[in-house]
Amino acid sequence: MPQSRVPLVEERRSPDGVVTVLMRHGRLNTLVRPLRSELIDALDRAESDADVRAVVLAGAEGVFSAGADLSEFDSGQGLAEPSLHSTIAEFLDEMSTPVVALIDELALGGGLELALACHYRVATAHARLGLPEVSFGFLPGAGGTQRLPRAVGLERGVDLMLQGTSLRAEAVAGGRLVAAIVDAADPVAGAVAFASTVVDAPVPRLRDVTLRDDHAESFLAFAAAAVQGDDPRSAVIGAVRAGLDDVDRGFVEEQRLFRRLAESESASARRHLFLAERAARRRPRTEVRLLDPARIAVIGGGTMGRGIALAHSLAEFEVWVVEPDAARRAETERAIAVDAARSTRGRQAGVGSAEEIIARITCVAEIEQLPDVGLVIEAVPEVMELKLDVFRRLDARLSPGTILATNTSSLDVDALAASTSRPQDVVGLHFFSPAHIMRLLEIVRGAQTAPEAIAFALAHAETIGKVPVVSGVGPGFIGNRILETSSREVALMLLEGAAPAQIDAALEQWGMRMGPLRVLDLVGNDVPMHAREASGTAGELAWRPAAALVERGWLGVKSGRGWYRHESGQPVRDPEVEELIRTIAVDAGVLPREHTDQEIAERAILSMVNEGAAVLADGVADRAGDIDVVFANGYGFPADRGGPMHFGDILGLTNVVRIMERYARRPGGHRWTPHPLIVEHAHRDEPLGRWEATR
Ligand code: NAD
Repeated sequence: MPQSRVPLVEERRSPDGVVTVLMRHGRLNTLVRPLRSELIDALDRAESDADVRAVVLAGAEGVFSAGADLSEFDSGQGLAEPSLHSTIAEFLDEMSTPVVALIDELALGGGLELALACHYRVATAHARLGLPEVSFGFLPGAGGTQRLPRAVGLERGVDLMLQGTSLRAEAVAGGRLVAAIVDAADPVAGAVAFASTVVDAPVPRLRDVTLRDDHAESFLAFAAAAVQGDDPRSAVIGAVRAGLDDVDRGFVEEQRLFRRLAESESASARRHLFLAERAARRRPRTEVRLLDPARIAVIGGGTMGRGIALAHSLAEFEVWVVEPDAARRAETERAIAVDAARSTRGRQAGVGSAEEIIARITCVAEIEQLPDVGLVIEAVPEVMELKLDVFRRLDARLSPGTILATNTSSLDVDALAASTSRPQDVVGLHFFSPAHIMRLLEIVRGAQTAPEAIAFALAHAETIGKVPVVSGVGPGFIGNRILETSSREVALMLLEGAAPAQIDAALEQWGMRMGPLRVLDLVGNDVPMHAREASGTAGELAWRPAAALVERGWLGVKSGRGWYRHESGQPVRDPEVEELIRTIAVDAGVLPREHTDQEIAERAILSMVNEGAAVLADGVADRAGDIDVVFANGYGFPADRGGPMHFGDILGLTNVVRIMERYARRPGGHRWTPHPLIVEHAHRDEPLGRWEATR
C-alpha cells in the first residue's frame, strides 16, 4: 500500500482571488525534492485557475527557506528532477499570474533564488537574505547569479555572492529586491494586501532588467583578479559575465558551472564539514541555562587564561581573572591590553572599542575575591596537585549550580570532578591557543558530567563564537590524541632521514595550512614533551630528536631555534639540527631511506585516520564528523579535503586498508594494522565519515 504523507505545501484562498501557498518542511523549509514537486503542482493549479488573481508564496512557520538540504547532494537527490533550477525555469518563470514571495526570517541560497524568481518580494524588516553557496564550494545554481545582480546592482550583487554574506531586508526595502516591508505581527496578511495591489499590473521579471553598464567589464575583471585560484568565486564571476547581455546565456553557463562544482570533491568535503559542525552543536534534550549576569571567572592569567578572558570580553561578558603572582598579574593586564587593541583593529563599527573590552576584565589575586559567577574556567599550569587545590577552593567559594570548567590538555577531568562536591557541574573546556582567535573548543564530558552542563557548554560555545565538539575523557581528548599519532609518524620519518623542510613542504603541498614541524616550532617543542613526560611516553625512540632539541633549549620560535632557525623571522633550515637527528638515528640503528612526498602525506594523514577509528571505537568521539570538525577548525586540515575521516572515504576505505597493510608489513610496522572499524566499513563498502555512536 502506498504510504500517505503529510503534504509539504498547503494552499489558502482569500475572497479576492489571492492564493497563499505555504511551504512546510522542518523549521528551515529546506527545498527537498518532494517539496519542489508539490510546489510545482500548487503553482500549476494557481496558473490554470482563472479565479486566481495572484499568489503569495510563504513559509508556513515563518522562515521562507534556508535553501537546499545539503545532505541531498551527496545522496544524488539534490540534483534530481525536478531540480530547483527546473522548478524555476520551467514553471515559476513561465507564470503570468503575479507571484509575491513573502520573506520572513530567512531566504538563503536556493530559498532566495526561489524568491528572486517570483515577480515581487515583500519581507519582514529583520529578514536575512543571501546566497552563501561559495562557502560550500559551489555557486548559486537556480538563477541566483543572474537575478541577484539585477535586483541590487551588479557590484553589490557580485560582492554579496563572493562574500557569501546576507543582508537585512530593511536595508534594501523599496527597491527591486524587496518591494515592501510587511508587519511581522501578521506578515501573511501584509503580503496578501500587497498582492491585491498588483493583480492588474503586467508582471515584472528580474530577468528582463538590463545588467550591463559602462563599468561592468572593468568591475568583473577586477573582481576576477582578486579571486584568482578560488574555483567557486571565479565561477560566480564567470556566470555573471556570461549573462551580462543575454540572461539566458547566463543561466546556461551558471548551470554548467554549478553541476561541475556541486559534484566536485571539495564541495562535497565542505558540505560534509558544514553538516558535521551542525551535528556537533546538537545539544542534549534538556533545558539550557544562560549566564545571568553574563559574568565569568578565569583562574590563571597565563597564555591561555588571557586568551580565554579576551574571548569572553569580546563577546561582552564581564570577566574576573585570578592571578596570584603580582608580577605576572601586571603582565596579564599588559598582554590583554595589547591583544585587545590588536583584536579591535579593523573591526566593523558598532563593536566595542579596545578600552571597553579591557574595562570588562578585572584581575585579582585570590579566588576568595571573586564575585558570584555562573561559569569559572581554570587555566593554571598543567600540574594535578595545583589544579586539585584550585578545584577544592572553587567548590568552597562558588554557589551551587556554578559550572566549574578546566582547560587542561591532558589531565583526568574525572579526578578533578571527584575533588568537588558537584562532579555533575564539572566539565572540560579545552580552548586552543590563541584562545580569542582559534575557533575550536573541545568540551570534555566527564563520567559524571550532567547533560545540563554539556548543554550549557554547547550553548555557551556558540555565544562566544566557538565551534564546539564534545569529547570523552582520555589522553589528548580527540585532537591531541590523533595529532600525537601523526606526530609520531613524522618523528619516525625524521629519524629515517627526511629533513624537516621536506616533510613540511610535502604536507603543505598536500593542503595542510602549515607543516607539522613549523607548527611545533610555533607551539614550542617543550609543550608536547611535557605531556609525554606526564603520560610516560617521553622515552619512545620516536621522540629522541625532540627531547634532544628541548634539552638544548631549542624550543622553537620563542627561543629563536627549533627544527628551524628563526633569527630572521622566517624559518631557515638548520644543518646542525639535521646532523643531530642523523647522529641519534645512527646510534639507534635506524637506517636512512628516501621518502617521496606521497609517503610523507600517506603516513602523516592515514595515521590520523587509523587513530580516528580508535577514538570512535573507544567512545571518545561520538561521530566521525566530530573528528573532522576538530581537525578542520583546530589543526589546519584543509576544508577542501573535509577532515581525516572524510578524506579516508574519498580515498576509498579499501585503498586505505591496502596502504596501511603495506606499511604494516615493514619491520616494526605493527602500528599500521588497520583498525577493525575501518576494515569492517571497507568490507561493507560503507563510508566511515558518517559513523555515529548510538547513545
Ligand atoms: P601558563 O604557565 O602560561 O599560565 C598559568 C598561569 O597560572 C600562570 O600565570 C601562573 O602564575 C598561574 N597560576 C599558578 N598557580 C595558580 C593558582 N593557584 N591560582 C591562579 N593562578 C595560578 O600556562 P598556560 O599555557 O596558560 O596553560 C594553562 C592550562 O591550559 C594548562 O592546563 C595547559 O595544559 C592548558 N592548555 C594550554 C595550551 C597552550 O597552548 N599553552 C593549550 C590548551 C590548553
